[in-house]
Amino acid sequence: MKKKDKLAIIQQHYPKAQTTIDSVNHFIDFIEGQLDLEPSKVMLADSICSDDVNSIQYPARTQEFLGPFKMGGLDGFPFTGLTGMGAFASHVPDEGAVGIYYGPHIGITENGTIGEIHRHGQSKNSSCCGAAKGALNKLINNLIIEGNITDMDYQMNTIEQILLNKKKGFCQPLFRSKRQPK
Ligand SMILES: [Zn+2]
Repeated sequence: MKKKDKLAIIQQHYPKAQTTIDSVNHFIDFIEGQLDLEPSKVMLADSICSDDVNSIQYPARTQEFLGPFKMGGLDGFPFTGLTGMGAFASHVPDEGAVGIYYGPHIGITENGTIGEIHRHGQSKNSSCCGAAKGALNKLINNLIIEGNITDMDYQMNTIEQILLNKKKGFCQPLFRSKRQPK
């Protein structure tokens, strides 16, 4: 299947979607044209899901930047936290800038099914993002226990708690909702 045909399927659901290569090229054009900076002066961080499919898709031109500093864990949540953000900020070159590439991810199959992809070498489709979908299924089936964050499944449990908080009507990020009075 041609790239433009794949993109057309995605754009049925996300009309402004671009390929990662095109979005990185536009970003580099912006850095050079609008900001008058060299990519080698920009410290890049990303916060994307640890899913191997994201490594496969990562565009080679991002190597023109410094980094990337990897902030993301499951579903792209910045699990390196405030310490990671502080470390990243301290690595920026003098007179340089930062760029942060972030977001959750969602697969779409050839026939337009959302939340699944066909992975190399497999006969069936599988979940993408599996963590987000797993947490959503637990939410729908009332299987998320409030406050349950374990050492051995910290990232997944945190995503579950974020969804549980959304269900209850809290729209603020998890960290902020803990600090601010209701
Ligand atoms: Zn994922």
